Amino acid sequence: MNGDRERIRIALHGGAGDAPRDGDYRAHRDALARIVHAAWRQLQDGADALDVAESAVAALEDCPLFNAGTGAVLNADGAAELDAAVMRGSDRACGAVAAVTRLRNPVRAARAVMAHSPHVLLAGAGAERFAESRGLALIDPKELIVPERARQLAAAQSAGETRLDHDRGTVGAVARDALGHLAAATSTGGMTNKLPGRVGDAPVIGAGTFADDRSAAISCTGAGEAFIRAGFGHCVHAQLVRGETGLAQACSAALAEVSRYGGRGGCIAIDRHGSMALPYTTGAMFRAWCDGTGTVAVAIFDE
Ligand code: ASP
Repeated sequence: MNGDRERIRIALHGGAGDAPRDGDYRAHRDALARIVHAAWRQLQDGADALDVAESAVAALEDCPLFNAGTGAVLNADGAAELDAAVMRGSDRACGAVAAVTRLRNPVRAARAVMAHSPHVLLAGAGAERFAESRGLALIDPKELIVPERARQLAAAQSAGETRLDHDRGTVGAVARDALGHLAAATSTGGMTNKLPGRVGDAPVIGAGTFADDRSAAISCTGAGEAFIRAGFGHCVHAQLVRGETGLAQACSAALAEVSRYGGRGGCIAIDRHGSMALPYTTGAMFRAWCDGTGTVAVAIFDE
């Protein structure tokens, strides 16, 4: 393997929200630990940061416990309408899909947009048609729906609210490989009872997803509109390249911007030196990480 194993870092999130402290999250913790460990092993074997971030997010999409892919939250029409993005830090190559309903793994479609189209972001039916042309199967949208999401939608609709998911969140991964390259990937169903066609921050490059080897890889979760208004990922990047501050402070300052626009949430980030930050302004954020030693850490609350 080329490069230095000590450079390897991986962090995942499974969403920020206000999960009740007395909930039973053993399955969430187990899934995060399993997926972060598999990702670390891939990095140790010399895998590329973007490949690892993409596959970790695809594994989280397949896990019905999280708000992405199978098990995503439902929009006001009762459909799981999904957004995802990937970004590579070495050359800022990136790809994203928005408002897709017939893809099991939107993050794979985002990667295909990056690798095989001249575009950065494809939405809706066109994104699905493009993904199919790249060999990704189109599924029955109902296959993405789990019963609990229908109950959540009914509750949100009777309260007349658009809700951030409390205990099953958006997913994301940031990775630094043995060559020191950075990458980020994010995938989400967005918010319960959102208007059909609403697109959140996850597929907006420079907002919910960003990576640049000169600064950091960042994946966000929380109230997407406020993260877009804050230009979250680019806000962290700009502070780092100007040398104004370190990673943790840059993320806190960007979260303060999100608060200014009326939102809460969190992010996972790895900078070019290998520092990691996983801050959040909600009551909880599902998260897992591994440093260069491969020790797996999983947390939900301030613990
Ligand atoms: N950021 C996502 C969105 O607004 C939601 C989440 O993170 O739970 O689409």
